[in-house]
Amino acid sequence: MQFTAEHDLFRKTVREVVEREINPYVEEWESAGIFPAHDLFPKLAEVGLLGLEYDPAYGGQGADHSFTVIYGEEVGRAGCGGVPMAISVQTDMATPSLHRFGTPELKERYLAPAIRGEMVAAIAVTEPDAGSDVAAIRTRAERDGDEWIINGTKLYITNGTQADWLCLLARTSAEGGYRGMSQIVVPTDSPGFSVSRKLDKLGNRSSDTAELSFVDMRVPVANTIGEIGRGFQQQMAQFQNERMIAAYMSVGGMQAAVERTIDYVKQRQVFGKPLADNQHVQFTLAELIAEIDVARAYNRTCAEAYLAGQDTTRYATIAKLMTGRLNRKVADTCLQFHGGVGYMEETWTARYFRDSRLLSIGGGADEVMLRVLAQLEGIGGS
Ligand SMILES: Cc1cc2nc3c(=O)[nH]c(=O)nc-3n(C[C@H](O)[C@H](O)[C@H](O)COP(=O)(O)OP(=O)(O)OC[C@H]3O[C@@H](n4cnc5c(N)ncnc54)[C@H](O)[C@@H]3O)c2cc1C
Repeated sequence: MQFTAEHDLFRKTVREVVEREINPYVEEWESAGIFPAHDLFPKLAEVGLLGLEYDPAYGGQGADHSFTVIYGEEVGRAGCGGVPMAISVQTDMATPSLHRFGTPELKERYLAPAIRGEMVAAIAVTEPDAGSDVAAIRTRAERDGDEWIINGTKLYITNGTQADWLCLLARTSAEGGYRGMSQIVVPTDSPGFSVSRKLDKLGNRSSDTAELSFVDMRVPVANTIGEIGRGFQQQMAQFQNERMIAAYMSVGGMQAAVERTIDYVKQRQVFGKPLADNQHVQFTLAELIAEIDVARAYNRTCAEAYLAGQDTTRYATIAKLMTGRLNRKVADTCLQFHGGVGYMEETWTARYFRDSRLLSIGGGADEVMLRVLAQLEGIGGS
């Protein structure tokens, strides 16, 4: 992937925004268990971050995917995992389907304000009995004239307590399995919607995660994204964007973590010399750098395929799987080389260690990535 001076300038801008608008507030937001999305998002929108690849007719930048790679790598360097995840929900998890398949009216009403940072979006797929197996969802939207009547529960929804609208996946017909699902834009100010619980998490604590309840909630059928009955397929496509941005952010986070650890081992004296003078420490960090380089290169190959209009399912699956695993290894090693202080909450390594665990679960667990890959490779027959 060839980057130009324009890309370099964009990278610098994003890094500055992260350092100015996110990093100084991380401690406060982590303690609060939430960050103020309605304050932060308009600031990100000012530099175009919330609609990089989206149509300028709705306020997007009309840029290509190479800018999304840079955005991911740079926002991933932030001092926590929670806020980058929440931002990527807005940009690459809850809105791609609406941009791709939504009617102009729906985009005007919900996408444009999301790109301006005025509305916060969430993606609502997972349920208490349906996570890895998306086809097992039970939330129903039954048609009554021009309206859907929605009943059900969604679980672990990022931005869930402060979202203005959800990209909801619901069953819209009695057909089981992969058929009969639709994606619907659900405004959270409609009667029948409630946040049942704000969830307490191991990591990504600055991001709010919620259980949501829908009881006889009425939403116009006109809020359906794309084709009625094609929701599962549309969501599977949207998952590819989710997995790609997660992999890009992960590489940015790992790179920053190793850089910070190198600084630390150079100055920390143990046995009368800098920790970095031990060959074991040098080789371990050098090996991580090599692995991060390979992951970055793989991500960019994936991005090039996406830019070329190819189906990136295989690339996105492998990128998410491998960066998720590498993230855990990097976090563990960085903490180890910091010793006791690395285990303290006052040191960034503790948070990074906790936050790093999510990538192997959210957006499809490692085993789900392996399942997709095994299917693509024709392993297992059926
Ligand atoms: C912090 C956080 C934020 C999230 N945000 C959102 C969100 O915004 N929107 C949303 O819709 N969802 C969200 N999720 C949900 C997330 O996508 C699911 O947790 C994930 O897909 C796994 O589903 P599950 O938790 O139901 O696990 P299960 O489906 O119960 O799976 C449990 C474990 O079983 C293993 N497994 C699963 N399938 C197989 C298999 N075929 N073979 C072997 N092993 C298998 C995996 O190790 C998996 O971790 C979030 C989750 C977390 C933790």
